[in-house]
Amino acid sequence: MLTYEQARRAVIDQVARTKGPRATASLSVWNALGFILAEEVKTDRDYPPFDRSTRDGYAVRAAEVALAATLRCVAEIKAGDTVTQPLAPGDCAQIMTGAAVPSGADAVVMIEHADRDGDAVRFERAAQPGQNIVPRASEARRGEAILSASMRLGYAELALAAQVGATQLRCASKPRIAILSTGDEVVSIDQEPGAFQIRNSNSVSLAAQVRLAGGEPVLLGNAADRIDDLREKISHGLREDVLVLSGGVSMGKYDLVETVLKDLGAEFYFDAVAIRPGKPAVFGKCGNAFVFGLPGNPVSTMVTFELFVVPAIDLLSGAAARDLPLVEARLGALLNEKPGLTHFLPARVDWRGTTPEVRALPWQGSGDIAALARANCFLVVAADRGQVNVGETMPILLRKDII
Ligand code: AMP
Ligand code: MG
Repeated sequence: MLTYEQARRAVIDQVARTKGPRATASLSVWNALGFILAEEVKTDRDYPPFDRSTRDGYAVRAAEVALAATLRCVAEIKAGDTVTQPLAPGDCAQIMTGAAVPSGADAVVMIEHADRDGDAVRFERAAQPGQNIVPRASEARRGEAILSASMRLGYAELALAAQVGATQLRCASKPRIAILSTGDEVVSIDQEPGAFQIRNSNSVSLAAQVRLAGGEPVLLGNAADRIDDLREKISHGLREDVLVLSGGVSMGKYDLVETVLKDLGAEFYFDAVAIRPGKPAVFGKCGNAFVFGLPGNPVSTMVTFELFVVPAIDLLSGAAARDLPLVEARLGALLNEKPGLTHFLPARVDWRGTTPEVRALPWQGSGDIAALARANCFLVVAADRGQVNVGETMPILLRKDII
């Protein structure tokens, strides 16, 4: 059985090997959050476009400023003012944050370090050349590439594009991810379940996870645990880039997903991973679509999606596969898990102290969505760890969606 790292590697290798070029579309910066850039963006001019003051204060010649030195204030320069007049020796100019430093001046003294009396400005200390000035073109030169293809567009990237006037961005289209739940007991969320039925919460979590990962969810509803219904709905899902199924991949008599996929000609790269929850997770390819058969218990579905489906969506979006958001925390309460599988336990990490401290939350196993909704991370307990003592350093997988 593969470890979760090996299973992730298998996903990354297979998807990287077979993905084709993606269609692109031009999007406004207002709508491009989370998309992957498909072009290079270059600056339209130098940044900053002029020597820019980073403080409210006085533009000076540094060599003329010392303790008790006095200069004559001859001008006031606001942000946005056109500055053409050079600063003459013996003079200074009051200047605001974001304004252009006049030629001749080579430093800005903060207003807090000067005393003004009419036109006379008295200084309290020496000035260093260059202080409180960001020189023209020091952030980027005109024509320089500042964003490159396959970058993920977050708020800073979008602001940078907007700054240089690139208001339309060519982006890769999002991969389409079909979502199909399975199970005779599953009813749609707007239906009243019978006494022994459950609502289809997995399609909701999967659609949310697809969106967060940068994919476009395509909702296919639920298939009954019958060959004919599964075959029809799975065939439908195989027209998309990826088909994600929930349920029907365990050892039960009515777990028919793998059988149906096999009949449809699927090739499997793994059909079990040494993790809990999520052990029966399946990954393969059928026709042109990648297929994930995730176990149906809601927390298993969520964990296996984060571990295995996210890197596939990354690659199909035209980006690199992101690393898992794993960090270390100090264990705050004793742990006792059965060794043999890597456990992903709903947990809460707390940053109030100097080192993050994590505690596993009480839970009823992989059907317990309420426990995960109280968690902000998963505590990762390696397969060879049984008992773990308070104070030990443990890896945690952050829930990026809420942290
Ligand atoms: P399975 O993997 O099909 O054996 O399902 C395991 C457990 O997950 C069962 O208790 C199911 O009732 C539950 N389950 C399966 N599909 C869903 C779903 N779409 N939404 C919520 N729970 C589900
Ligand atoms: Mg089932």
